[in-house]
Amino acid sequence: MKIKNPVAFANYADWLTRNMVGGVPLASYSCPHCAATLHTAIPCLNTEADSLSTCPVCSKVFFKSVSNYGNYPVVIPSIDPVIA
Ligand SMILES: [Zn+2]
Repeated sequence: MKIKNPVAFANYADWLTRNMVGGVPLASYSCPHCAATLHTAIPCLNTEADSLSTCPVCSKVFFKSVSNYGNYPVVIPSIDPVIA
């Protein structure tokens, strides 16, 4: 795993640590560019959130859609803005 931006990766690691220690539920997914396993916050029940994200490992940008319908979180990362 080649980390392109160590500062951004450290910030992500801090965020992940705080959430994991705090018991915050997270959803995992793979970066659509480098396939690194990443984690994201889960939106409130029966809502969804879309965002432009930057991978903390490869520093490439992608669209991320996270939904939580029926308490079943689904993460769809995409490099195609039409799909996201
Ligand atoms: Zn990546």
